[in-house]
Amino acid sequence: MASGEVSFGPPPRIDVEADVVVIGAGACGLTAALRAKAEGAEIIVLERDPSPSGSTSMSSGFVPAPATRFQRAIGVDDDSPARFEADILAKSKGLSDHRLARLASRTIGPAIEWLADAHGLEWIVLDDFLYPGHSRHRMHAVPEKTGAALLARLLAAAERSDIPVVTRARVTRLFVRERRIEAVEVERPDGEVEFVGCKALVLACNGYGGNPALVRRHVPEIADALYYGHAGNTGDALMWGQSLGAECRHLSGYQGHGSLAYPHGILISWALMMEGAIQVNAEGKRFSNEHGGYSEQAVKVLHQSGGTAWDIFDERIHAFALSFPDYREAVEAGAVRRAGDIAGLAALTGAPAVALASTLATTGALSRGEGIDAFGRDFTGRPALQAPFYAVRVTGALFHTQGGLLIDNKAFVVHRDGKSFTNLLAGGGAACGVSGPDVCGYLSGNGLLTAIAFGFIAGASAARVR
Ligand SMILES: Cc1cc2nc3c(=O)[nH]c(=O)nc-3n(C[C@H](O)[C@H](O)[C@H](O)COP(=O)(O)OP(=O)(O)OC[C@H]3O[C@@H](n4cnc5c(N)ncnc54)[C@H](O)[C@@H]3O)c2cc1C
Repeated sequence: MASGEVSFGPPPRIDVEADVVVIGAGACGLTAALRAKAEGAEIIVLERDPSPSGSTSMSSGFVPAPATRFQRAIGVDDDSPARFEADILAKSKGLSDHRLARLASRTIGPAIEWLADAHGLEWIVLDDFLYPGHSRHRMHAVPEKTGAALLARLLAAAERSDIPVVTRARVTRLFVRERRIEAVEVERPDGEVEFVGCKALVLACNGYGGNPALVRRHVPEIADALYYGHAGNTGDALMWGQSLGAECRHLSGYQGHGSLAYPHGILISWALMMEGAIQVNAEGKRFSNEHGGYSEQAVKVLHQSGGTAWDIFDERIHAFALSFPDYREAVEAGAVRRAGDIAGLAALTGAPAVALASTLATTGALSRGEGIDAFGRDFTGRPALQAPFYAVRVTGALFHTQGGLLIDNKAFVVHRDGKSFTNLLAGGGAACGVSGPDVCGYLSGNGLLTAIAFGFIAGASAARVR
C-alpha cells in the first residue's frame, strides 16, 4: 500500500471538495477543523482509522497553558506566556525553535479558552503536583483527566458543528501544481480510491513514531524500544513535506517516557516520582536524578540491565496515584505489587535486600535534608519512603516524535527557500515542535501544546485561503 506520495499535476477527477481538508482527527486536526468552521469555511476531516483515536486518545490529556481564567480560578495569578516560554527554553537548554516556542506559549491559553467558550470544553487545572520544568501549576485537563475524554469532547464538538469526520479514509497522495495543493487521494480499506479537492490542506497526521524505518534513520537511539504512540502515525506528513521541498527541523527530537509498566504496557505517571518515588535497577541502586524529566529517563532506563527498572514507592504515594486512571488500570492488571518490608521488596524485584536497604536509607536521609544526592535530586519536602512498599517494573518507550515540518507564524509550511506554501498548513506532531533536537528537550505537555495551539492557528489561516 503506497503512502506519503506526491503527484505534480492535477488529480484524475474530483469526487468531492471542501474549502479546507484536514488530514487526521486528533487534537490538532479537530481543533483546526473547529476553528476553520467558525471562520466560515466548509471542512472535511479525513481519518484513516475506523474510529478516531490517534495519540491524543492514548495520552494523559494534560495541556499546559499559561495565564488562563482556569488558573486564576484556583489562585494561580502570576503565570504568563513569557514565563511559560522561558520554561520551554530552559528544558531544551535553549535548543527549541525560539519563534515557535513563543508562538505556542502565547496561543495555547486563548485556544483552550476558545474551546471552552465556543464548544463547551471544561478544563480543570492539576494543582496537586508540578511536572519537571514547569514553574507554575498550568497543566489543564478535562475533568476525566484522560486523553480519550479530551478527544471524545473534541469529536462531540465537531459533530455539533456539522463537521464531517470521514473515517476509514487514509490519504495516500497529494496532487500539487506550482506549490499549491489541489487535491488528495483517499484510499478506502476495500481498495477503492477517491479524490478530494481543497482550497487549503492542513496536515494534522502527527509524526513518524509508527514508522520503524524513519525512527531508525532519525532517532536511532530509541529505534529498538517499544513505540507507545498511535500505530497509524507513519510519517506521511514528513514524507509529503520532503517531496515538496519543505524545511524539516529537529527530526532527532522526540518524547520518550521512562515509566511504562513492563510487560503490561501501561503508563505509570511521572507524578509518582515528583511525589517521592524512586527508580532502582536490578542491583537495587538508583541510577539517575528522577526529577530531570521523564522523556530522557526513557534512555536511562533502557541502559539498565534488561532495559528495565523498578519504580519504588509507598502507601502514601500509592493512595495519591489512585486518582490517575492509568494507574488504576495498572493496579487491575497486576503491574503494581506490594511488599510488607525490604525483604519482601527484594523477593519481588529480585534486587539484593542489602542494596535496597542502603538505597532507601540514603534517600530517607536526603528527605530529612541530610547530605546531597549524588545525582542532584532534591528529596526535601516529601517524607521518607516507608513500609509497606510498592513496586512496578518499568521500561523506556518512544511516545512520539517532535521534529517535523517548519511552519510560519500562521501555520503555513515553510519551503527550504524560506517562502511559505500558500495553502499547505501543519500542526501538532506533523510540524516541528518546541522540544529541540533531542530527547532531553521535551517539557511535559509539549505534545498537546503544539497540537492544540498550532491547530488553532492553522484552522483560522486555512479558512482565509481563497
Ligand atoms: C501514552 C502517551 C501519553 C501522552 N501524554 C501527553 C500529555 O499528557 N500531554 C501532552 O501534551 N502530550 C502527551 N502525549 C503526546 C500527545 O499525545 C501528542 O503530542 C498529540 O496527541 C499529538 O496530536 P496530533 O493531533 O498531532 O496527533 P494524533 O492525535 O496522533 O492524531 C493524528 C491522526 O492522524 C491520523 N493519520 C495519520 N496518517 C494519516 C493519513 N495518511 N490519512 C488519514 N489519517 C491519518 C491518525 O490515525 C491519527 O488519528 C502523550 C503521548 C502518549 C503516546
